[in-house]
Amino acid sequence: MSRSWATRRSSLGWSQDSWSLEGVPLRFSVTKLLRHPRLHRLPRHLVPVGVLALSLLLTVCVSLLLNANVRARDQARFNNLVQSTSDRILRRLDTYIALLQGTEGLFATQQEVSPDEFSAFVQLFELQTHYPGIQGLGFSQRLSDEHHSIVLLEPRDSRNQAAMGYDMYSEPNRREAMARARDTGQPALSAKVTLKQEIHERKQAGFLLYLPVYRGGQTPATVEARREALVGFVYSPFRADDLLNGIFGIEHKPRVSFQVYDGTAVAPEHLLHVSHDPEALAREPMFTTTKTLTVAGRSWTLTFASLPSFDETASEFVVVPSLVAGVLVSLAFFFLTRAQVRAREAAERSTDELRVALAERARVEVQLREADRRKDDFLAMLAHELRNPLAPVLTAVQLMERKLQSGLSTEREREVVERQVHHMRRLVDDLLDVSRVTRGKIHLQKRPVELVAAVGRAVESARPFAESREHTLRVELPRGPLWMEADPVRLEQVLSNLLHNAAKYSEPGGRITLTLAREAGEAVVRVADTGMGIPAEALPHLFEPFMQVARTLDQAQGGLGLGLTLVKRLVEMHGGRVEVASEGVGQGSVFSVRLPLLPAERIPAEPEEERLEQDVPEESRRVLVVDDNEDAAEMLGEVLEMDGHRVTVVHDGMAALECLDALQPEVVFLDIGLPGMDGYEVARRIRQRTTGAGLRLVAITGYGQASDRKRSREAGFDAHLVKPVELDAVRALVADLGRLPGQRECTFNVTSG
Ligand code: ADP
Repeated sequence: MSRSWATRRSSLGWSQDSWSLEGVPLRFSVTKLLRHPRLHRLPRHLVPVGVLALSLLLTVCVSLLLNANVRARDQARFNNLVQSTSDRILRRLDTYIALLQGTEGLFATQQEVSPDEFSAFVQLFELQTHYPGIQGLGFSQRLSDEHHSIVLLEPRDSRNQAAMGYDMYSEPNRREAMARARDTGQPALSAKVTLKQEIHERKQAGFLLYLPVYRGGQTPATVEARREALVGFVYSPFRADDLLNGIFGIEHKPRVSFQVYDGTAVAPEHLLHVSHDPEALAREPMFTTTKTLTVAGRSWTLTFASLPSFDETASEFVVVPSLVAGVLVSLAFFFLTRAQVRAREAAERSTDELRVALAERARVEVQLREADRRKDDFLAMLAHELRNPLAPVLTAVQLMERKLQSGLSTEREREVVERQVHHMRRLVDDLLDVSRVTRGKIHLQKRPVELVAAVGRAVESARPFAESREHTLRVELPRGPLWMEADPVRLEQVLSNLLHNAAKYSEPGGRITLTLAREAGEAVVRVADTGMGIPAEALPHLFEPFMQVARTLDQAQGGLGLGLTLVKRLVEMHGGRVEVASEGVGQGSVFSVRLPLLPAERIPAEPEEERLEQDVPEESRRVLVVDDNEDAAEMLGEVLEMDGHRVTVVHDGMAALECLDALQPEVVFLDIGLPGMDGYEVARRIRQRTTGAGLRLVAITGYGQASDRKRSREAGFDAHLVKPVELDAVRALVADLGRLPGQRECTFNVTSG
């Protein structure tokens, strides 16, 4: 421990977040520490542990510093006590020396001092009262160089009487002190002696203090002269315990104990005084020290030890609480930092979530705006597309009327009407199909389908349109058959849609190539064209509903932007996927459809089921047509009549029921949406009649969903045709009276366009 610590009045303080020692700020700040870049580089969950470690380290450092500081202070307090004890002993002995000097003065001024004079002189000092520990004041007279005798000794108590006449020069310790006093002319303290006064059992260690008395009252200049002029010694005998207890005995609560040894050796034979019995001190003293005093030419060695009363007040006990407090503060820091870290993490998490949510919301908003825009575009387009075919139809009809009057052929007009109606039907079908697919209402009628044949049929249905636009349509097929599980109608719808688009989005005279191949266990159909191509930015959105590339109302191709959506959903329902590629505008496009192939063991032995028969009937049937749309009813009736059937047309349910018995029809085409009694009710009533029990009831309606079909079946219908009805289907139903129609209704309700 450096002395500077002991003497310096240290103060260790903490203010705000920084530590200071004696007002000098230590280079440490908690806030700075927390912001330290190293701390920030720690993984965040380790920061509290880092802070705890640093804080504990700091606690240990501060505690060590505090420990050193308080120990230094306690040492200084102990040193002060030692010093003051020593000083008090020295001061008291100085007092006795002064007393002797006063006595010596008596002898210097008078040649002869009578016992009574001496007694009166000594009584003046009131030795018992003011000079505790002193046994008396005496005078030892020099009889010769070697013989001295105590001639005066006050007070004259029994103890001192025992010493009277004693030749102190005969005893070595006394002689040494007397000789020293004689030769130096100075007061001289003897070594440890047993006083002549110790006439009782309990003896104490003692010592004597001598002061030479020379003839003439002056101290001669030389040793020889002093020896020569020596008359005797004034002296005082001391009992060590009485003296030192007299100095310290009145202390209320002593805080140091000490032992006084004569000379410089700490040995029992030299022990003069023990202030406290060392055996009685239960524990090791906190502080000990040894000090040497020189009193009247003689050395005394004092050993000091702190007493429990001192040790208990030692500030050392501050260190443990400070350590505990430091650990508690460190733990508080740890929990605080951990709470902060967690709060921050939670805040960051919420911010991230909020950011994601906002981004998602922004994305959804963009999507919604885009969808909204597309919907508006779509409605405009829908109106346009539905109105578009009406103009040529109207014109054709008017032309037909005039041509018929002139007896000219109306074949061309009929073709125009048919083409436009097909086109409109295609639009409406797409619209309904997309809506159904989106709501999961389309259920595939899957069965093993041979793809080469299916592709062939799709090509055939698309060929007229491709040819009308003067395209070359090339088909590349694999050698063997390719089987997959599919709904053949939907599959052909997909392929003919792609072919139709290829023809539609290519300038007349283009080249369309359909390739069917087996690749990596899949069937791949590629429809490539040399048409207008697709810009790169439109490719990712091409299969979204209402998506049309730079489509304007005045473009002639027609369409609602739903075909590809339908293609994608139908392909996916078949477990396949569709992709598009295009080098860009004017570079043509390639649509690839990948479909899973049927495992070899499931390929059927029999050839695929034949397509729908479209035979025109040979037998003439009795047919009743019930429709409030007079044109539609008449037209249908006319077609059937042209096929050789006997047809009756009525326009409401009551009329139908009324003529039923008279007509005995074999087939009834019954519109559902009739005024008054609807088609379902009419059907039910027909079925209740004996005439109506065996006939074929065919519903004609604008609604083609499964629920509609179910309802019509429950009402007693055998078949369900969706408007506009396919004449081939109508003919087949009339001609096919021998077979059960139940399984075929769906087939009639969908069209591949
Ligand atoms: P529609 O043909 O009724 O507009 P589709 O869903 O069939 O709707 O096609 C969406 C859009 O994709 C079309 O409007 C057209 O811009 C583009 N597209 C489709 N097929 C082709 C193709 N073969 N070549 C160029 N563009 C095409």
